[in-house]
Amino acid sequence: MATSTMQSAADRQPRAGRGQAPDVFVRGGWQPMREHRDEEAVDFAIVGAGAGGATLACQLAKKGFSVVCFDAGPYWRPLEDFASDEAEQQKLYWTDDRISGGADPIALGGNNSGKGVGGSTVHFSMISLRFRPEWFQSKSLLGYAADWPITYAELEPYYAAAEKALSVSGPVRYPWGPPRGAYPYRPHPLNGPAQLLARGAQALGVAWASTPLATVSAPRGKSPPCVYRGFCNFGCSTNAKQSALVVWAHEAVRAGAEIRDLAMVGRIETDREGARVTGVQYRRESRWRFQRAKNVVVAGYAIETPRLLLNSETVHHRDGLANSSGLVGTHLTTHAGPGIWATFDEEVRWNKGPPNMAVCEHWNYCDEGKDFHGGYAFMSQGPLPRAWAQTVTTARGLWGPALRRAMLDYNHTAGYVPVAAVEARPENKVDLADEVDANGLRIPRVTFAYSDNDRRLQGHALRFMGEMLKAAGGRDLWTTVDTSHLMGTCRMGTDRQTSVVDADGRSWDIPNLWICDGSLFVTSGAVNPSLTIQALALRAADRIEGLAGRGEL
Ligand SMILES: Cc1cc2nc3c(=O)[nH]c(=O)nc-3n(C[C@H](O)[C@H](O)[C@H](O)COP(=O)(O)OP(=O)(O)OC[C@H]3O[C@@H](n4cnc5c(N)ncnc54)[C@H](O)[C@@H]3O)c2cc1C
Ligand code: SF4
Repeated sequence: MATSTMQSAADRQPRAGRGQAPDVFVRGGWQPMREHRDEEAVDFAIVGAGAGGATLACQLAKKGFSVVCFDAGPYWRPLEDFASDEAEQQKLYWTDDRISGGADPIALGGNNSGKGVGGSTVHFSMISLRFRPEWFQSKSLLGYAADWPITYAELEPYYAAAEKALSVSGPVRYPWGPPRGAYPYRPHPLNGPAQLLARGAQALGVAWASTPLATVSAPRGKSPPCVYRGFCNFGCSTNAKQSALVVWAHEAVRAGAEIRDLAMVGRIETDREGARVTGVQYRRESRWRFQRAKNVVVAGYAIETPRLLLNSETVHHRDGLANSSGLVGTHLTTHAGPGIWATFDEEVRWNKGPPNMAVCEHWNYCDEGKDFHGGYAFMSQGPLPRAWAQTVTTARGLWGPALRRAMLDYNHTAGYVPVAAVEARPENKVDLADEVDANGLRIPRVTFAYSDNDRRLQGHALRFMGEMLKAAGGRDLWTTVDTSHLMGTCRMGTDRQTSVVDADGRSWDIPNLWICDGSLFVTSGAVNPSLTIQALALRAADRIEGLAGRGEL
């Protein structure tokens, strides 16, 4: 059970230091941690210990590089700090000031960003899906959007390695995509809403699957199997969830990486000529310090990464670092998530188990009859009562007795939310506002609008998901709007005019400045992004090792 003392301790006082870091698997436990002095030029300073940063830190440390990984948020101990309490767990989210505008402003907060070692994966839903192979060559093979600089075939071994590292629990035969081996762990049993998805899919004659999830279906080391209490979006207090905190960060420390929690990086410094980066300015315990580094990797996710690059402008880089193309911050994309909900006569009890236990990727792989480019996956849902009350209040304007009556249907409700592709367009972007945060750093401003194609795609998704709900026995349908995930803003590519970094995440402008997170995405795809981010990080680590071996770092 969490106590406020423990919470404030993690929030206010760094835990990693004095040669040790929390052992997340042992109450009050510690593991030894290698430390570096600020003056020591480490091989890699990594900004952000989330899906991209912690994975890379772990792999680089294993390969013998010296690594310091900074995270602005706390080093949580899930067994002690996480309560089964939706309000208490809001502490996991990145809620620093940001401005969100444009024709369709994106809601920013717990729905798309986390703050702390492990990043957004500490409260993510654990859905672990691969991109449809053709999406990496979307322009060449499907005739729309843009090509990535790597192919599915190049990434496939890293997808498999990420699934193994996360012990993804999934079906023996996944119905979509190229033939592939079984998932490392057996699938989880279907909960009520997942069974309804299966029933609806069968009625409409489309395939469905038990969702591949990064929470274990059987014991794994010190992780016990999932107990299906459904608090996943509020942090998993048992460590069944295979987040970047318990998988990569824990292993990174064991492999020799140093993690600095509650350490906000405010600026990347360059040498006098502006040719190479020299380290990072960071604020920890109310003091600004400078860590020297031979390479800097930015892994703060799709808003904080461009923000840091833009905030690090110099006389040689007046528009921010890595930005000679003018593309830093542009092509921001997300996943549209218009939800559709229905009431069922039978009891569904949708809060039992992880929120998304069945998936339908039919419209990711079938292009017939579409009046739009792209696709969407959708999953069964399981919001907890507080979050659901918020949805009902906001979307339907219900309050007082009407809200109470609606909430009495909680156990009889089910619905679908898609992970729907959104076009990556230059005008959707992150730039800097004039306002500054508590650290004196200019805050990010996010501008976003859907394209006509995005709207047609969402219309299709709502129609199809609605039909499936009705086919499963749902009635009184209604809809909501939302988004999830953030991608793009520092896209990878083969050409320095049209991208910020190359296929390894190395910036075209400054050879020892790298990016390794969701901002690399060229297109959104239409599956949840974390497995692809981790696969890219695993690949980047191998590439960096190869470059170092050839003296090309
Ligand atoms: C509620 C929710 C559910 C989700 N469900 C899924 C899912 O089921 N499947 C899936 O694939 N994806 C899911 N995602 C998305 C997934 O978690 C993210 O896409 C992924 O974690 C992004 O990885 P990243 O490395 O880019 O950033 P993050 O994992 O967010 O890590 C970035 C880290 O950088 C730190 N940081 C940022 N700026 C600085 C700075 N200047 N100095 C120091 N530290 C900094 C932050 O504190 C943060 O810890 C979900 C996300 C949320 C919020
Ligand atoms: S349902 Fe499983 S993964 Fe989710 S919080 Fe509970 S134990 Fe963790």
